[in-house]
Amino acid sequence: MSTTPPLVQGYEVVIGFETHAQLSTASKIFSRASTAFGAEPNTQACAVDLALPGTLPVMNKGAVERAIKLGLALGSHIAPRSVFARKNYFYPDLPKGYQISQYEIPVVQGGSVSFYLGDELKTVRLVRAHLEEDAGKSLHEDFVGMSGIDLNRAGTPLLEIVTEPDMRSTAEAVAYAKELHKIVTWIGICDGNMQEGSFRCDANVSVRKPGQPLGTRREIKNLNSFRFMQQAIDFEIRWQIEQLEDGHAIQQATVLFDPDTGETRAMRTKEDAADYRYFPDPDLPPLAIAAEWIERVKSGMPELPRAMAARYVREHGLSEYDATQLTQSPAHAAYFEAAVAAGAAPKLASNWLQGEISKRLNAQELGIEAAPVSAVQLAQLVGRIADGTISNNAARQVFEALWTGEGQDVDALIEAKGLKQMSDTGALEKIVDDVLARNEKNIAEYRAGKDKAFNALVGQVMKESKGKANPAQVNALLKAKLG
Ligand code: ADP
Ligand code: MG
Repeated sequence: MSTTPPLVQGYEVVIGFETHAQLSTASKIFSRASTAFGAEPNTQACAVDLALPGTLPVMNKGAVERAIKLGLALGSHIAPRSVFARKNYFYPDLPKGYQISQYEIPVVQGGSVSFYLGDELKTVRLVRAHLEEDAGKSLHEDFVGMSGIDLNRAGTPLLEIVTEPDMRSTAEAVAYAKELHKIVTWIGICDGNMQEGSFRCDANVSVRKPGQPLGTRREIKNLNSFRFMQQAIDFEIRWQIEQLEDGHAIQQATVLFDPDTGETRAMRTKEDAADYRYFPDPDLPPLAIAAEWIERVKSGMPELPRAMAARYVREHGLSEYDATQLTQSPAHAAYFEAAVAAGAAPKLASNWLQGEISKRLNAQELGIEAAPVSAVQLAQLVGRIADGTISNNAARQVFEALWTGEGQDVDALIEAKGLKQMSDTGALEKIVDDVLARNEKNIAEYRAGKDKAFNALVGQVMKESKGKANPAQVNALLKAKLG
């Protein structure tokens, strides 16, 4: 399955990811304050989030349920008993002076994410996924000589998903992040909005000569777009190799990517776990998850994208690539399945979805849910191609009319636009005879072995029929007549 890793200037790249997925609960992880994005600063922070004396955290069941879903989706062990811990550090956006997280015993343990990189199936192992609260935010922009603090985000539920250092290239790392993003949105535990910070990745990057022990890593923080992720990791790899080639050692550090310069820059040297003085949070009992709860969640889980893609390959004979494209979101898969259920040939439906439909959706920045051509209409259209009523070209005209709302009914549009292919063999035969009678030169050339001459004859028949002849039929007739 796995081939030797690609080398960059003789170095092997090693990448591990820590991803913070914001869980899509209406209220915070330990309080009843709202998690909605974009409110006026400090209007969504309650006494618990502000850490006022005498307040106590209360676990949000919805956040736990979302962690269980992730564990089920990734084949992880879901701990029947996990423990919340205090991670102590000082920062103005952290009023308690500690973050509630999980340390020694996280709720989700092990598991893996599999995805195709080109035509190779990759598997990245997970170490763990743990529940924790987000911190607030420091605001620097609208202030002169001081900073503001917005605590709306304090206490927002996060699942931090940590991989083994299993990735060996930038492309593999970005593909992993895209697959994980697809899974968390697919199972509905995170809205996946990267601009709003709902899904942010830290990429740990190191390089080594093949066969050497792992190199020292630097951690690129808070990558919030796939494009920046790729640029940042590429830059970091080149930078580390340059340092090593120049005889410098890599210092373990936390770095930030600056999209304006395309460079990564050290933010601070890295703390060790010991610096955080982790200890179990005395305000929260251990989190107990009963087997029945896991079973109940399991019975409500949707079919996952990888399994669905494998089924499309199996049931419809589609390629792995097509199947992956069709399962890019639940809405895409639903559209495809509705078209097939309405009688569309799977391969044709797949081609149209990935071609004409996705081209137009992209141009208009629409999601598949907003496609003006329904799955049933697409099925009717490709049905008319398959049964020879219209050519591909004619189908594109009908599609255009459906898309722009000029008409709704495929057959009525074919009729109104006079796009029906000639089905009258007698009439077609007459055209073929006429064309042959006028083109002795082409016939002679064809007999002398020139394919081009044959194509010219087909072209003339098509022209003569005003494009309504079925090209396959024309081919067959000409071949038969020319002997
Ligand atoms: P911390 O929580 O302090 O950042 P961890 O040991 O939990 O440290 O590792 C964090 C991430 O770094 C994991 O995803 C892990 O796979 C990755 N990682 C560890 N060592 C390396 C390395 N040498 N090169 C690249 N990634 C690494
Ligand atoms: Mg880290």
